[in-house]
Amino acid sequence: MTEVDTGALRERYAAERDKRLRPDGNDQYLEFKGRFEPMLADPYTPRAERAPVRDHVTVAIIGGGFAGLLTGARLREAGVGEVRIVEKGGGFGGTWYWNRYPGAQCDTAAMIYMPLLEETGHMPTEKYAHAPEILEHCERIAKQFGLRDDALLHTQVTGLEWDEAASRWLVRTNREDAFTAQFVVIGTGPLHVPKLPGIPGIETFGGHCFHTSRWDYGYTGGDPAGAPMDRLADQRVAIIGTGATAVQCVPHLAGACGALYVCQRTPSSVDVRGNEPISPSWFASVTSPGWQARWLDNFVATMSAEEWPADDLVNDGWTDLAKRIRRRLAAPRSAPLTFEDLLADFELADFEKMSEIRARVDAVVHDEVTAHGLKAWYRQLCKRPCFHDAYLDAYNLPSVHLIDTDGRGVQRITQAGLVVNDVEYQVDCIIYASGFEVGTDPVRRYGFDATGRDGLQLSAAWADGMRTMHGVHAHGFPNVFVVQLAQGANFLPNVPHNLTDAAKTVAAVVRHAIDGGHRQVEVTLQAQDDWMLRQVPSPLFSSFLADCTPGYYNNEGHEPGPHALLGSYADGAAAYFRYISQWRESGSFDGLTFGG
Ligand code: NDP
Repeated sequence: MTEVDTGALRERYAAERDKRLRPDGNDQYLEFKGRFEPMLADPYTPRAERAPVRDHVTVAIIGGGFAGLLTGARLREAGVGEVRIVEKGGGFGGTWYWNRYPGAQCDTAAMIYMPLLEETGHMPTEKYAHAPEILEHCERIAKQFGLRDDALLHTQVTGLEWDEAASRWLVRTNREDAFTAQFVVIGTGPLHVPKLPGIPGIETFGGHCFHTSRWDYGYTGGDPAGAPMDRLADQRVAIIGTGATAVQCVPHLAGACGALYVCQRTPSSVDVRGNEPISPSWFASVTSPGWQARWLDNFVATMSAEEWPADDLVNDGWTDLAKRIRRRLAAPRSAPLTFEDLLADFELADFEKMSEIRARVDAVVHDEVTAHGLKAWYRQLCKRPCFHDAYLDAYNLPSVHLIDTDGRGVQRITQAGLVVNDVEYQVDCIIYASGFEVGTDPVRRYGFDATGRDGLQLSAAWADGMRTMHGVHAHGFPNVFVVQLAQGANFLPNVPHNLTDAAKTVAAVVRHAIDGGHRQVEVTLQAQDDWMLRQVPSPLFSSFLADCTPGYYNNEGHEPGPHALLGSYADGAAAYFRYISQWRESGSFDGLTFGG
């Protein structure tokens, strides 16, 4: 076990956090508006002209990513016909449709991350699947569950209006569609609105630029499947940002660019990846019927504080930290375990883990100054932990330059390049790996408002934060279901688990409404209020986040705003999944009223 000086580490972490705190928090970022809006165009699929749609469907699903696809699949399984997905991209996949940057891959093991593996019969090709395989799987789900034919692609919902007399929603889009739906599912995803860094002069850059979620293979050459980017050999390229996206694409850019400048404000923690192919014989040996649900439950339990299974089926970087904490908690102690003991054990396990991750930088990166700059000085769960076996190595190439801004960010963008520490770096291309809006008003991120019962606007109902029961049902908005993370399990290490579960809930409720001849279903105000009272950020999590370096996990270092993603079931994710499964199976759907 690595020895750590806890006092010195605490001081160092606090100093690194303090120098990054900025008064403008989330407002430091720019929206893709005005002159930046064309950068959001779909580079992957040409837009097909079509006539506006003016018909009626049973269910309209907004969003064709995992949330929409899984809900569509469960509705189809439940025998609900006329399910229409409306999707702003030119195909299914959501985040996997847009994020086709070189090296894109999921850090959560494919066996639990890729949904409906048993239903579709797909065997993941590797422990951590790459983006093209996940995108293909999305198309597979759409095809298998008959969600393609009636979908409206390259279409954005612009408004929803409830028609009380007809008990249905009027759905309007940016393609002049105006169709009605008895039920509406909102599944727009947590990270789908890209953002730009608010760097002075950003609008003056005269070279080429794009955001990582709109990768310009026409400019770089290559393709998402890994063909080399053969148009960059004489190009000077800067990438701004060193989060999970940059960690994956930098190794590919490094080998391709004439010169690559990686502009870093805060280093990511980059742990071992250890990816490996999945063999058919191994897959066959672990996939008896019901296997994926067992794997999902095992992962939640391994990550949970309440019940620890003997086997860690997934056995990855997420469960490693959980197991380290558990080992410390299990050590003999003279007095009963207190909350303070728990905090202390969590901190020690984390210090030990992060010390190992920093030591890895020294072991891999040859240049001392570069290695010094690449070390992350915060607790592992303060920012999205990263895992990669080629990222650090990339800095050993002579063409790759770490431009460390020491927490301050890029100073200025000029016509010819960018300025850091008063030095101008002239470049031909800037790639923005600057992430996505999180913690902003969900209605703003949806891109539309909804007018519910008695003219209630969703933006007004949620002005002080989202209010739901189970994260799914919102009072005042009958027949609407939101499929997302917060106010349910909020199980971040495996986002699709939340969505698969919410999809089951939606299908069960819609089936019940149809079978009972009910035209409306709505959560009561009382049930919603009661549920919201139970939405507490875990004390462990909130005290921990306050000390973290700024980022989207902690509202850029400010008090959690009303739209923070923190609300989750007080007893934890495992308890939530048990609770909601019983709620569904009881058939009484407590808290909902059916009628109309
Ligand atoms: P992030 O928000 O994580 O990263 C944005 C980066 O831009 C940060 O490094 C940030 O620095 C930097 N930045 C912002 N402003 C400036 C500035 N003015 N000057 C210099 N740098 C700046 O976005 P990503 O796209 O990397 O990742 C988003 C999320 O998507 C991840 O957290 C993860 O949840 C998911 N994802 C998952 C992947 C996986 O499974 N492997 C892969 C990719 C993404 P700072 O840290 O200082 O704010």
